[in-house]
Amino acid sequence: MSIKQNIEAIRSTLPAGVELVCVSKFHPASMLLEAYHAGEHIFGESRVQELKTKVPALPADIQWHFIGHLQTNKVKNIVPLVSLIHSVDSLRLLQEINKEAAKIDKKADCLIQIHIAREESKFGFSFDEAEQLFQSGQLNSFDNIDIKGFMGMATLTGDKNQIRKEFQSLKRFFDAVKTTCFANSASFSILSMGMSDDYPVAVEEGSTMIRVGSSIFGESRLKSCFVAHPLH
Ligand SMILES: *Cc1c(COP(=O)(O)O)cnc(C)c1O
Repeated sequence: MSIKQNIEAIRSTLPAGVELVCVSKFHPASMLLEAYHAGEHIFGESRVQELKTKVPALPADIQWHFIGHLQTNKVKNIVPLVSLIHSVDSLRLLQEINKEAAKIDKKADCLIQIHIAREESKFGFSFDEAEQLFQSGQLNSFDNIDIKGFMGMATLTGDKNQIRKEFQSLKRFFDAVKTTCFANSASFSILSMGMSDDYPVAVEEGSTMIRVGSSIFGESRLKSCFVAHPLH
């Protein structure tokens, strides 16, 4: 199937109001352009250098989302380029984003990444850590950050029940925080969960934004490299 057909197949299953982020990491600009011409305007990248080379090569009305683990020393490079950072996983990172956004007089839209998977390796705040962050009042000092919601990644498993439980727990936490800490703010509204293999479950459990890569663009050779599979 073509990129356009892949997108149409995904879109046909999405309820109104669920946004699609086309995860274009490791794929060349020509493939992004195909998705763009099929009507897609939100692209997700996970590497700073790759994002920096793609932005000037592609149409200016694309909204770029940063979805990968972000090092504090790279923040200044991406804050001017992106409309949403999904992967805020530390207070230190929030401080740095706030500082760099202030320099260019921008409000940086951010999602707090919550660790919901069983794997040790996934980044993010635990529910407890996130709760402490919200209750501490520290967020109030960040004038140049708008916290728009949460992002979470489920465990990489074929066990759909496990995945569903993880998404449910994040949705419950999202609702609790929204009705308490953000009761007076309409901007806390994004629940970013669901990837190629698990977005149907995520959508059933209340996702408002899915991040889909391989089901649109296919597996990339580079990606295979990074996860140490042989190229073929
Ligand atoms: C790569 C990536 C995705 C997309 O994964 P697919 O399985 O290719 O859809 C989504 N979210 C994050 C954070 C990613 O790094």
